[in-house]
Amino acid sequence: MKTSTTQHGNKFSSFFCNLFGHHYVVSKRVTEHIKEYKCLHCQKEVTTDVSGKLSALTPQMQDINSTLEDMYRKRQNRHVQHVA
Ligand SMILES: [Zn+2]
Repeated sequence: MKTSTTQHGNKFSSFFCNLFGHHYVVSKRVTEHIKEYKCLHCQKEVTTDVSGKLSALTPQMQDINSTLEDMYRKRQNRHVQHVA
């Protein structure tokens, strides 16, 4: 008899999330104010949007975030170089 896959666990977890809400942890820091989060139980991913609320991390949002992250890093690098 084979053990069941983790998919069953995920289904149970999303049921758990529906009842008690997601348990988000920061998975990626995009900028000072924008972060990506992942639910510990069901692996659902969300991100801070421009209005500061959480919304689903769609491929489109990932694209926006990587652009923002790139701009944020460049600005920081320039700032560091300017100070030095
Ligand atoms: Zn969840």
